[in-house]
Amino acid sequence: MMKVPYVNLGAQYAGIKDEVLERISALLDSGAFILGEELAQFEKSFAALCGTKYAIGVANGTDALFLSMMALGIGEGDEVITAPNSYLASASSIALAGATPVFADPLDDMNIDPAAVRKAITPRTKAIIAVHLTGRPARMNELLAIAKEHGLQVIEDCAQAIGATLNGQHVGSFGNTGCFSLHPLKNLAAAGDGGVITTNDDAIAANLLKARNHGMRDRDHSDFFSYNSRLDNLQAAILNVKMRELPRWTERRRAIAAMYQQGLAGVGDLLVPTDRNGERAVYHTFIVQTAKRDALKQFLADNGIDTKIHYPVPIHLQQAAAYLGHKKGDFPLTEKQATTILSLPVFAELTDEQVMHVITTIKAFFTN
Ligand SMILES: *Cc1c(COP(=O)(O)O)cnc(C)c1O
Repeated sequence: MMKVPYVNLGAQYAGIKDEVLERISALLDSGAFILGEELAQFEKSFAALCGTKYAIGVANGTDALFLSMMALGIGEGDEVITAPNSYLASASSIALAGATPVFADPLDDMNIDPAAVRKAITPRTKAIIAVHLTGRPARMNELLAIAKEHGLQVIEDCAQAIGATLNGQHVGSFGNTGCFSLHPLKNLAAAGDGGVITTNDDAIAANLLKARNHGMRDRDHSDFFSYNSRLDNLQAAILNVKMRELPRWTERRRAIAAMYQQGLAGVGDLLVPTDRNGERAVYHTFIVQTAKRDALKQFLADNGIDTKIHYPVPIHLQQAAAYLGHKKGDFPLTEKQATTILSLPVFAELTDEQVMHVITTIKAFFTN
């Protein structure tokens, strides 16, 4: 039976192994591990990709969000609106900054509903975290208009969306800051943890460059006590190789998504994601929705196909969020989607035959 894994990080590495090993070896010889040349080069090409003035490497995507909020002066007594159907960090970073996460339900495509955001605004609201969930740009035009109207800051959670654009503009360049994760399972992945913050704001960038490095202005002077949240030069060396491959990997993800979109259109009760007007999604995940989710997941597993659920437990129902006092029913769309969503394999190294096997198997499930 044909096997289709959900990811295969080794297959990606095989294509760039020689160059990665060469660069790692050179770096180990040089001993330049912290804030070195590879990092400077990576930050420069990352900013160029996003069309922003600055890109600042940090230790992970959660820190990118948390440090952004610190830099924007968000803290105790403030509320920040975010997505309850996102990864935990879209909310935990708000709590870590000392503020209160406030949730707003998504629309059918799983991205936050601007009307729900509007309803969630109170006199304490300071910012909106626009999560580009699944690699699809959030409704930035609407969210930016709401933010402007209410004097709110906008932080983009771009962890799943590197390479995504809306009307030709790259995610991470719309808000006050854009926050990226380089976790091994993201579209651009370090060999471990990593993150990036993008911004066009000189003052925020100056603050963040210190905030990631003990508040240090130079070698011997600190302006404020802060964290150690740097992106390793060694990771940057690997990422510099991968940055060059990223456009090709993204195109392949989109080609696989197009095969699914064509092959699965009108099959059973499946809701299949597609690019809306002006969107160029990067399909970090390819999430279909069906009332028969659990049975479909089992059927696919029985046929050698691995799938995931992103995410089975909404953030507002996590034990960690109990202090916020939410209960079942507070965010009905998020809770419904948690029972209907299924992430199909979509990584660049999948073969056409594997993708066809997924499509054929899903069709077989719905015709039986
Ligand atoms: C992965 C992820 C994060 C957190 O990134 P880490 O690098 O794991 O800290 C934040 N938000 C979203 C939407 C993510 O998918």
